Amino acid sequence: MSTRVRVRVEGIVQGVGFRPFVFRLAEELGLGGFVGNDAAGVVIEAEGLPEAVDRLVATLREAPPPLAIVEAVRVAPLAEVADPGDRRYRYPFTNCTNCGPRFTITRDVPYDRPNTTMAAFDMCAACAAEYEDPRDRRYHAQPVCCPACGPRLTFHGKGDNASGEAALTAAATALAQGAVVAIKGLGGYHLAALAHDDDAVATLRARKHREDKPFALMVADATDAARLCHVDEHETALLTSPRAPIVLLARRGDAPVAHAVAPGNRELGVMLPYTPLHHLLLGDVGAPIVLTSGNMSDEPIAYLDDEAARRLAPIADAFLTHDRPIHMRVDDSVARVVRGEPMLLRRARGYAPQPIPLAHPCPRPALACGAELKHTFALGQQRRAVVSHHIGDLENYETLRSFTEGVAHYTRLFDIVPQVVAHDLHPEYLSTKHAGELDGVELAGVQHHHAHIASCLADNGRAERVIGVAFDGIGLGTDDTIWGGEILAADLTGFERTAFLDPVPLPGATTAIRQPWRMAAAWLDAAYDGQPPNDLDVVTRNHHQWADVLAVARSGVNSPPTSSMGRLFDAVAALAGVRDTITYEGQAAVELEQRADPGQTAAYPLPVDDAEAPLRLRAREMIAAIVEDLRAGRSTATVAGRFHAGVAAAVTAVCRAARERTGLSSVALSGGVFQNRLLAHRCADELERAGFEVLLHRRVPPNDGGISLGQLAVAAARDRQRFDAGDTR
Ligand code: ZN
Ligand code: FE
Repeated sequence: MSTRVRVRVEGIVQGVGFRPFVFRLAEELGLGGFVGNDAAGVVIEAEGLPEAVDRLVATLREAPPPLAIVEAVRVAPLAEVADPGDRRYRYPFTNCTNCGPRFTITRDVPYDRPNTTMAAFDMCAACAAEYEDPRDRRYHAQPVCCPACGPRLTFHGKGDNASGEAALTAAATALAQGAVVAIKGLGGYHLAALAHDDDAVATLRARKHREDKPFALMVADATDAARLCHVDEHETALLTSPRAPIVLLARRGDAPVAHAVAPGNRELGVMLPYTPLHHLLLGDVGAPIVLTSGNMSDEPIAYLDDEAARRLAPIADAFLTHDRPIHMRVDDSVARVVRGEPMLLRRARGYAPQPIPLAHPCPRPALACGAELKHTFALGQQRRAVVSHHIGDLENYETLRSFTEGVAHYTRLFDIVPQVVAHDLHPEYLSTKHAGELDGVELAGVQHHHAHIASCLADNGRAERVIGVAFDGIGLGTDDTIWGGEILAADLTGFERTAFLDPVPLPGATTAIRQPWRMAAAWLDAAYDGQPPNDLDVVTRNHHQWADVLAVARSGVNSPPTSSMGRLFDAVAALAGVRDTITYEGQAAVELEQRADPGQTAAYPLPVDDAEAPLRLRAREMIAAIVEDLRAGRSTATVAGRFHAGVAAAVTAVCRAARERTGLSSVALSGGVFQNRLLAHRCADELERAGFEVLLHRRVPPNDGGISLGQLAVAAARDRQRFDAGDTR
């Protein structure tokens, strides 16, 4: 009987021969697995005989290599779960002081068992003894439990039901046979299917009404992740960290994964098991599974049992559930490694609501209501910013309720009563409307792209004036036009618009966001002064509506001007034949990046016009150059590669111009466009070569999920400024 453990060793354990030491020791003990470094120390996964694993852990504690200073050796409780002699053998709710649920089961403060969803479970004598013993690793672990006293699994299939151990087996069997199984996890229900089973994954996709957006995978361990994807040491560290986010990784060409998992994508989102339930399930299934949010496309993840049973019945063939209620719905976090460091794209389970320290204190407690898509909110008190978990797209009653209930829950947990409320300038965002409905607070409107740059500053613990490059899809500007290709000179209190992408009409407004080919029409019309070429594939493919859309763009009716960089990516994606319409936000830009040849050095021109202030980035020559390449028969990969190179070169050029005018030499890169790894790398490399310091996002996403932190930082800075100026209310 073999066992598997994950061991984290903290202290001075890097650069002291620790990893080779572990490697030799594991070999002597006949253990398999791996060893790697991360920011906190060394992480080890070891598999083998329980005695050998114990021996390894004991040696790390008692006889480490001579130069190492070991401060802590933490062992994830997989060992007990895998030990047939242990009373928690294969018990899926095993936890200790250092692991297990917390945020999702907390109903109120203080964090004591009666205030959690474990309140209904009375501890047995054995668990109570562990809970009360200060030397025990379960001392004051609120969710402590065991098979005798804790939550229990149940399985409901077509006609067959099971509970406890049999439920787990039934779920694994159903998955192995190609079923779609709804599984109750830590922060909600997931939908699972065998990752290499084409039929199962296609069925899941069809029933969920999710057309193209990639599904995440869960694999048993880092070794299995490396079978599917190329994983470097930074990515291994992120995958195996206790926070266990979904990590976006470059897929191997021969990865045994169904086509429908991530159509048209060179990456896979991969996570490791983060509860004993998931460990046991993955072990029993014996193969990677798709593990995606339990919802219909665009709805919030289901987390209440009755609700899940109703909403997921049309999608799932079977349910694996349990009787420990989830109080707070929380999605999985999503991250990727950019330039050797993690960058969060969705901040939720494992990260929220851990506070982020602010560079300067908030004079008064504040709430920031966020934007609309990928919504989060934030609370600030003194030097502490609490950014909420990812709420979802704030476009319907369900997500609005998640937001308002979330604010109520967080204000209670963190004991913050906001006096200042920050919001976006867009009057139609539900978050802005919510701010307007609050009584007895002072409102602070923060421009969207200023909030992006402030977010990047706060993310990096900074507050001084910088050059901010804010590239995203859409945000309301101070002149009532739609911004999104902005170069600002900004600090936390304010900003100047130093430069922006020359605007074009957004033909049909929101329709243009779903139909990138409309942006191709608008950009061709602008680049060729109203005489757009008609010999291009994009025209042929959309000839039914082409003339109408040009007419709408020219009329200005329902076609507001936009400087959006995201929309320029859309236009180029349509021109290059990547796609004309999208099924999820940002899809055209994502696929343009995926298709790009990263080796292209010939950059399309995107000159900085300094004839007037603010400066303009003129994309007309760029569009014309793309048209020439398309006519010459150049590939999508070449066009996409040259486009990325052109945007990066333009960023560097415009930052040089901004530096000449302002003397600033630090650049913050923010906005959803900088989720694009190719662009982020290129811009950061070129800017550093030009002598700039570059700030990228780390702890909150560059997309609108980071907006609330930026709004909070701005509102606090303005509040501070007023107090400093002698305003003494
Ligand atoms: Zn017990
Ligand atoms: Fe944005």
